[in-house]
Amino acid sequence: MRSLKTLFKNNEAWVLAKLGKDARYFSKMAKEQDPLYLWIGCSDSRVPANEIIGLEPGELFVHRNVANLFPHTDFNCLSVLEYAVDLVKIEHVIVCGHYGCGGVKAAMQDHHLGLVDNWLRNIRDVYARHKEELEGITDLKIRYARLVELNVLQQVLNVCHTTIVQGAWERKQPLSVHGWVYDMETGKLKDLDCCLSSIEQVEHIYRIRLKS
Ligand SMILES: [Zn+2]
Repeated sequence: MRSLKTLFKNNEAWVLAKLGKDARYFSKMAKEQDPLYLWIGCSDSRVPANEIIGLEPGELFVHRNVANLFPHTDFNCLSVLEYAVDLVKIEHVIVCGHYGCGGVKAAMQDHHLGLVDNWLRNIRDVYARHKEELEGITDLKIRYARLVELNVLQQVLNVCHTTIVQGAWERKQPLSVHGWVYDMETGKLKDLDCCLSSIEQVEHIYRIRLKS
């Protein structure tokens, strides 16, 4: 219980600090949100989305799950993306993985963890797709880091293959999808240089003509 009391005390201190800088901070915040970015990141407690990119509440729409996955049939992911794109009108989707991701590591091993094994199957598919490249890397630490990157790249594509993103592009709504990796050992972000912002960047088989 003591630790939970601490959280309420922390909250009181945070409220006072915010009000000290701006007496109308919460009344303004309660009115609306206007974030430009949707963050799809890992649930890992060491990757706090707002904090590492210096954004305040109201500036970042966030979805986090184990190993920052965007399975194309997951209604949780799809609902967040649709709300963020169609209603909030964010302009950038950032899929951010992180080196040292426990979910990615688990997907490289044959241990049984539980229900999460089924979720992490998505990463085993990424591994299988890039098996040749990955198994050409003899240093297991480097192979693991590369799988973290390849997983991010695949999730970026999964986001772009949705009717939601393709619909926005068809309407000429500005929307870019990016892949980044966070390095917990340095605190720095790495841009994987895979920014997609138009249907021409998507493979033909995944293109959907939304207007008849
Ligand atoms: Zn992780």
